[in-house]
Amino acid sequence: MKVVDYIKESKKPLFSFEIIPPLKGKGIEDIYAGIDPLIEFEPKFVNVTYHREEYKYKDMGDGLLKKISIRKRPGTVGICAAIMNKYKVDAVPHLICGGFNVEETENALIDLKFLGIDNILALRGDPIKTEQIFQPNKGGHQYAIELINQIVEMNKGKYLDDDHKNSPTDFCIGCAGYPEKHFEAMNLDSDMENLKAKVDAGAEYITTQLFYDNDKYFEFVEKCRAIGITVPIIPGLKPITSLTHKTFLPKFFHIDFPMELSKELDKCKSNADVNELGVEWGIQQAKDLIKRGAPVLHFYTMGKGGAVKRIAKEIF
Ligand code: FAD
Repeated sequence: MKVVDYIKESKKPLFSFEIIPPLKGKGIEDIYAGIDPLIEFEPKFVNVTYHREEYKYKDMGDGLLKKISIRKRPGTVGICAAIMNKYKVDAVPHLICGGFNVEETENALIDLKFLGIDNILALRGDPIKTEQIFQPNKGGHQYAIELINQIVEMNKGKYLDDDHKNSPTDFCIGCAGYPEKHFEAMNLDSDMENLKAKVDAGAEYITTQLFYDNDKYFEFVEKCRAIGITVPIIPGLKPITSLTHKTFLPKFFHIDFPMELSKELDKCKSNADVNELGVEWGIQQAKDLIKRGAPVLHFYTMGKGGAVKRIAKEIF
């Protein structure tokens, strides 16, 4: 079922979460161990992130370097199939522009259609570590909107090779939005114009970057509505669970902690202290989001569902 239909049909806010594929070589049990504790809260859909390959240079010992490709977290499509089969929930794969040319994208979409996937979160992907700025593959997409356009065309039955009569796909397309601005955008307004273009192109809902200040989310929703974006805007939430998150989360996700939270974080002496604070903050954030009308609470578990479970227990 489509994410937008779940939202339309539900009389109460929905619970959903995102998982990341385990490191290469680990088993599917790692995935199940992350999902099992959260299933009692009846998620309607589970997102599975996509991780492109990176490159490293191996010293061959004779003054030569060999370029080696590594994908640390493969398996998005297989994981989607496994969790749909085991838990009977909808899996929402993330599909990115980086690392794909348009033919490979089309083939990936055909695989997802055959698998019975109804929703796709369409993203550009971040630059890989060896790139200063995002570089599309030769013959690939530069921006998420181009990927959205390709999916929309396939939904109309228009594949790259339109000599044949093609069976249309029927994907509900989600896209990413940034209440605190995407890190490359020159300002929030131009970023939001680019977001509107994705919605006008065919994205039916937006999932936001994580944030810790609900006012920023609601200001963002208000601004979206003011420029004519009418689709559901799903807030992304991530409980803070360790001391390293104090610097990692603002740096990696380009977000700010509100002053009140940062003061409390400064008082924490251990990971356990941060975890308690993160759960408490998450509960208050979730309650307030629901009170003020958020349609879904979408949690980034990042492979660790313990804190999400404690928050969900208070809410769902
Ligand atoms: P875009 O919408 O293409 O925007 C990228 C930048 O380009 C923005 O600054 C935008 O303002 C600008 N822009 C957009 N269109 C144009 C245009 N036509 N002309 C000029 N500028 C333009 N990454 C992964 O690798 N795998 C994942 O699974 C993943 N999941 C994510 C899930 C969510 C909910 C979010 C919020 C992010 C996720 N990301 C993931 C990270 C995401 O790939 C990065 O944030 C990436 O840098 C931008 O992706 P986007 O789809 O927002 O890009």
